[in-house]
Amino acid sequence: MNQFTRLLLTAALPLVLITAACGSSDNVSTDEVSTDEASTDTSSTDATSTAAESETDSSDTDTDTTTGTVGDLGLWFVDGALTADAEVVDCTLENGSETTCYQLQASSLPSTVTTDGPYCPETVGDEAGIWVWDGNDPGLYALDADFWAMMSEQGYEFVDGDGNISITDPAAVGAGSSGTANSCLEATADGSFHLEVLLPTVPEDLDEPTSLSTISQVGLALDGVTIFGDAPSVADRGGLPALDACGGHIDPSGYYHWHFGAESIQTNLDEAGAAVTCEVAQDVEALVGFAYDGYAIYGPEEDGAVPSDLDECSGHVSDTDEFGETYHYHLSYDSPNLPACRVGASAVGTLSSPDNPNASLPSGEGPGR
Ligand SMILES: [Zn+2]
Ligand SMILES: [Zn+2]
Repeated sequence: MNQFTRLLLTAALPLVLITAACGSSDNVSTDEVSTDEASTDTSSTDATSTAAESETDSSDTDTDTTTGTVGDLGLWFVDGALTADAEVVDCTLENGSETTCYQLQASSLPSTVTTDGPYCPETVGDEAGIWVWDGNDPGLYALDADFWAMMSEQGYEFVDGDGNISITDPAAVGAGSSGTANSCLEATADGSFHLEVLLPTVPEDLDEPTSLSTISQVGLALDGVTIFGDAPSVADRGGLPALDACGGHIDPSGYYHWHFGAESIQTNLDEAGAAVTCEVAQDVEALVGFAYDGYAIYGPEEDGAVPSDLDECSGHVSDTDEFGETYHYHLSYDSPNLPACRVGASAVGTLSSPDNPNASLPSGEGPGR
């Protein structure tokens, strides 16, 4: 059992007590409230006994020294990122394990998000966002005149004779539209609902890592914004769902999400010659979020360099400032800069929207989805 696991376990008990005391039930359906309340005692007992077991096989850590160090998982998040206190709830992991998860809730448009476009330029000369092109000459590009010229050369016509870009709100044409017309997609933000996330309190490794490919669920950033894998291919679908300079954009159903780790994207942009600036503070070694298996995600560097011992998922076991020696992921300098796979099990229902049944969320189930 690693240090991070122990910290999460010891963090679980005070969290449960707080949860029981507050009886928080805001924005939760009746079914969920009763499940939460019924499960509180059980999870408290489980956490206590498991924590006690981990104490026995640990000679150097006890509850007193770690309580208050981690305390509430929510403490790692940026102020305002979460709209409710983190709770510990019963959950089932994708490997069938019945366990406990942290339940975190964030706004569909968190106040911590300081970037809001530009995404699609109105004309070839206007300021715009970025895209990871997957056709000929693949790579990270600013959506500038050179990019649109390259698109035209490759047979993709986004621009009319006057230099105006075709721009479409994907909500207006319907999700999954298979039209072949080329258009820059820019959805309308809707900050009126919430996304709810489950993170295992104790990461459990899968027999085989799960690939994190197109629109797969990667994790939750410390700003409360969910992180997905690659955005859909333009070559396949015709539409180009432009990203802002930090690698995020609005889903057709209105919520903001990342397709990059924003805290180190500027290196990628600079290396690609994309003349745009991400306004999110850049720190290539910072803790940036948690993958949906419960392991932490850091920037691409550690002790001043990219670690040399990363596995296929861009993770390794080494010492961290926050959690001691434990498995964790690193962002990369590839584009997108996210872990390519996930070693641990995520929860069934990892990502949901309790107050908006129409939110379009990737299922996150199974490899490659
Ligand atoms: Zn997206
Ligand atoms: Zn590391």
